[in-house]
Amino acid sequence: MSFSELGLIPEILQAVTDAGYTEPTPIQRQAIPVVLAGQDIMGGAQTGTGKTAGFTLPLLNRLARHASTSASPARHPVRALILAPTRELAMQVFESVKMYSKHLPLRSVCIYGGVDMNPQIQELRRGVEIVVATPGRLLDHVQQKTIALGQVEMLVLDEADRMLDMGFIPDIRRILALLPANRQSLLFSATFSDEIKKLADQMLKNPQLVEVARRNMVSETITHIVHPVSSGLKRNLLAHIVRHEDETNQVLVFVDTKFACSRLAHFLERHGISADSIHGDKSQQARTETLENFKSGKVRVLVATDVAARGLDIEDLPSVINFELPHTAEDYVHRIGRTGRAGKKGKAVSLVSSEERHRLADIQKLIKLEIRQEIVAGYDPEPDFFDGDAGKRRRSPTPASAGRSDERPAPDRKKRSERESSRDTRERPAPRSRQPSHIASDGFDFNKPYEQRATDAPVVDGTRKVDEIPGQKVQRPIAFLLGGLGRKK
Ligand code: AMP
Repeated sequence: MSFSELGLIPEILQAVTDAGYTEPTPIQRQAIPVVLAGQDIMGGAQTGTGKTAGFTLPLLNRLARHASTSASPARHPVRALILAPTRELAMQVFESVKMYSKHLPLRSVCIYGGVDMNPQIQELRRGVEIVVATPGRLLDHVQQKTIALGQVEMLVLDEADRMLDMGFIPDIRRILALLPANRQSLLFSATFSDEIKKLADQMLKNPQLVEVARRNMVSETITHIVHPVSSGLKRNLLAHIVRHEDETNQVLVFVDTKFACSRLAHFLERHGISADSIHGDKSQQARTETLENFKSGKVRVLVATDVAARGLDIEDLPSVINFELPHTAEDYVHRIGRTGRAGKKGKAVSLVSSEERHRLADIQKLIKLEIRQEIVAGYDPEPDFFDGDAGKRRRSPTPASAGRSDERPAPDRKKRSERESSRDTRERPAPRSRQPSHIASDGFDFNKPYEQRATDAPVVDGTRKVDEIPGQKVQRPIAFLLGGLGRKK
């Protein structure tokens, strides 16, 4: 099927051709005709499926009939509102809106917090048809009466599940109350909890369900692997893995806390791996610069918290590494949605210490997949990692045997009450069971602000060597990248 068969106007088809798209993705094939017909949508699609164009193209198509070349602000009322949970996602959606509307006289603006409101007010005053916004800053404008939402015809709520996680649902409800009842609404979410369904019931009228992947499922093109490792050895193992990746491969690393985020990036930097971090405490400008540096390939490793990484649109990212497993299994789905996009092969590597085993069990249950586990030689897990697992201890295979099936039964589950789901708790370290995960074996504390230390690693031939851990012999890297998925029957 081609885009022209979807009934889009020539100006939009031209923009799609300019973007280099030859055919619509499955979500676009499903969503575009429904939106063009004026119907509401409940969309189940994760980032990377092409969902942004799936709602933006038909939205522009519907607004095009009002497009005006007049300079008068009155001829450019806000007709479409797109809400995104984070500044980064809002900016990315805005970039798409600009790209797809470049042949149309429709105006758009992106409004998000953490920056001066005045430039946004100037743009709103000139008149804009499309507003891409984060909920909090939009409400600031509403309060200051710098935006009028009385003529909104179309509403898009993107990444609704993340809105919920971030505590934005009350803000969303306030915004909904300001919009005309007679409007078209589209809701997109990667996962559907009961709360999301409740919100959808309030917000959508006879919605069409548009779904590309099964709920809470992950792309089939992603290879998952778990490296059981003691918490104190994680950062050395991370450096080891990154070093043995193809040098051109960029890696997105997820951590739980903001402190761990910058300290881990500094650790990698000090060991000759170009890295930067992105988290909620960084200014918007710093976050934008970091993201640009990563996208342009200047930085090889980007260390991120879940909140900051939400919505990052980075193409061709071959691997995602979970330095710590997320506290909620759904976040695993979000995290690894950065790789294996648009049918490309991706790899999701997780460094799992014994205190995270219950999180691993939750993830495996959610994604219905038993993840292959391999110990990388020299980076052993805590002695109790396999407790309750009949003492079946697996070593990493040699490269020759790495392709063999090496599935393990899921470890015991701990109580669900141990899981934490709010944004605040997600950015805090896990409950401690033995050595806290933020304290490395050499006493390096990830939760303390970064301080340069002279003796972080021995220098060999001018380069720092990280694979040497006191008292531990360096072993050969293993072919941890090989092997297929162990899928439950
Ligand atoms: P999204 O899921 O909206 O974040 O889109 C993921 C990526 O897919 C973005 O980089 C888009 O530019 C790209 N994309 C969207 N639609 C298409 C298409 N029909 N063909 C190729 N790439 C696309």
